[in-house]
Amino acid sequence: MTPNPKQPSQPNKSNKPAETPGGGQSVWTQLAVALAVFLTISIGYSLVRQYIVGETENVPVSQIAGDITAGSIASITVAGDKITAVYTDQTEKVSRKETESSLTETLSQYSIPPERMAAVKISIEDEGGARFWFLSLAPILVPALLLFGVIWYLSRQLKGGGGMQAFTFGKSMARLMRPEDEGTRVTFADVAGAKEAKTELTEIVDFLKNPKKFIQIGARIPKGVLLMGAPGTGKTLLARAVAGEAGVPFFSISGSEFVEMFVGVGASRVRDLFATAKKSAPAIVFMDEIDAVGRIRGTGVGGGNDEREQTLNQILVEMDGFEPNESVIVMAATNRPDVLDPALLRPGRFDRRVMIDLPDRKDREDILKTHSRTKPMGPDVALTVIAERTPGFSGADLANLMNEAAILAAREDRKEVTQYDLIRSIEKVMLGPERRSHVLNKKEKEITAYHEAGHALVASVLPYADPVHKISIISRGRAAGYTLKLPLEERKMQSKKEFLDDIAVSLGGYIAEKMVFGDITTGASNDLQVLSNLARSMVARFGMSDKMGPIAFDASSQRAIFGEGVSGEQSQEVASAIDAEVKKIITGAYKKAEDVMKKHRDALNAIAEKLVEVETLEREEFEHILIAHGIVPKKKEDIEHAPLA
Ligand code: ADP
Ligand code: ZN
Ligand code: MG
Repeated sequence: MTPNPKQPSQPNKSNKPAETPGGGQSVWTQLAVALAVFLTISIGYSLVRQYIVGETENVPVSQIAGDITAGSIASITVAGDKITAVYTDQTEKVSRKETESSLTETLSQYSIPPERMAAVKISIEDEGGARFWFLSLAPILVPALLLFGVIWYLSRQLKGGGGMQAFTFGKSMARLMRPEDEGTRVTFADVAGAKEAKTELTEIVDFLKNPKKFIQIGARIPKGVLLMGAPGTGKTLLARAVAGEAGVPFFSISGSEFVEMFVGVGASRVRDLFATAKKSAPAIVFMDEIDAVGRIRGTGVGGGNDEREQTLNQILVEMDGFEPNESVIVMAATNRPDVLDPALLRPGRFDRRVMIDLPDRKDREDILKTHSRTKPMGPDVALTVIAERTPGFSGADLANLMNEAAILAAREDRKEVTQYDLIRSIEKVMLGPERRSHVLNKKEKEITAYHEAGHALVASVLPYADPVHKISIISRGRAAGYTLKLPLEERKMQSKKEFLDDIAVSLGGYIAEKMVFGDITTGASNDLQVLSNLARSMVARFGMSDKMGPIAFDASSQRAIFGEGVSGEQSQEVASAIDAEVKKIITGAYKKAEDVMKKHRDALNAIAEKLVEVETLEREEFEHILIAHGIVPKKKEDIEHAPLA
């Protein structure tokens, strides 16, 4: 397999904690405080209770009878089945009789002399007395009151506390970030690069800062802003920065949260969320990953999802229901604008769209700088070099890279991050953690070695392919092995010749397996998918096939740009003509790669054998082998670039 750094990187989940800074922790502290208060009060109560009830000894009726006979009891109070005897020395003892029989009946069994009996004052107390009620209800009432107290205390803490906390408005589950929470405030200064996006969003900031100015002059206020961009390009970060710049409350909820919780409440969550936001207007409602709810309705994909549709409908209803002067702006983020329901993109809804691109070299350097601020960097660190080596990395990847480098340094007990830490982290982020535990057997290792050698050899011989930087048969992530090709310089555009060579390089692994072992493994499937997609894009999107001409046939990419109404229909004829052109491109590239492999078969063997032996080949070692077999390694000046016209 050939992970190509130019391809967009995978969604980066490591960014999650950053979205709720401090939230979880302070809730725990509050719980601990509440628990301490609860314990103190209940201990206090049990002490007080003893005092109220008094310390009385429980004795059997027979003893009471004996004491009456002995003449030591002054009076007896009967309340229900409870007998309280007050002694001549003022002590109290408590006993119980059967509920049905009267005190005299009970005592009659003990043959007490009548004159002793007459000396005791007997009074019957009314059971409905306040004291009785208090004593019998206290065990239930006091804990209940305490519980209410704790709930009240907690809710007060949550409202007044800082941070962006997960708490519920009704049941909306949205997180709120308040402008006065300095700790979690993000501004445009925290977002490196993304200049165009920032410029567009400045307008929204101006409006939120002073809505009156705009309303008075009768300007139509934007309702919805859709941030579109690959995962990790900083969409969530930018949305928070808008709130931070404008100094308004920021209510955020992610599309998957609407969907994954309880069935049937997605729509009511939306209602709650908007109601709360309107109360604190001007405000921003942010719906992250809106494609989770905003997919085209009624496609029945996944068995139709009523819950999702209702949630989406509610969002549409709320957005339409805004009064013209209500200064709540809805922001949403997605990395799949192509699957969004067209109804969301209609005017009056998410009519502003802001595209966020993967950062270019300069932006990458800025992002690296931003994230190196909190980490001590060694004197040898050159972020420019790291930025050069990370084309296709998203902001989140770069943040992750910095973090990995810091972890490496800390693991080796160093106080500073060095350039070497950063370089090692590039591969780690690109490919996922090294999986030394997955051991290939001898045969698998050989096949993988030839497969990767095939990619590397074709890449080194074809003039427009990116040179090889590193080859390895140590499995990373899901790939058994990998060949890293790095462009010698950054390119915004790619030419047809480069694409053709890229396709040949991707085929290199497949052809090597077939040539050497006369068989093909599943290891080539990812390569085939990548190259087929590339070939199809060349024909249907980039106008790179002479036969089809300069027409874009790909409907999904057009819908993202021009909105609904672009038909995805293609005539059968056009579809099969495209297929034929794709096949022609791939066949041509196949022939080219096969020729290279046949001509340099000894070089292929040498690379593969070396790989089986050492598992990882760095660029210098690899070029040594090339030179030994009469292939001149590429240098920067040698790379020919097709004229861009
Ligand atoms: P998205 O929402 O587009 O998937 P996020 O906004 O969640 O991406 O970005 C994830 C993390 O990546 C951020 O928290 C930040 O640390 C980092 N990041 C992304 N883009 C930038 C940028 N332009 N400048 C600085 N940091 C960035
Ligand atoms: Zn491969
Ligand atoms: Mg995000």
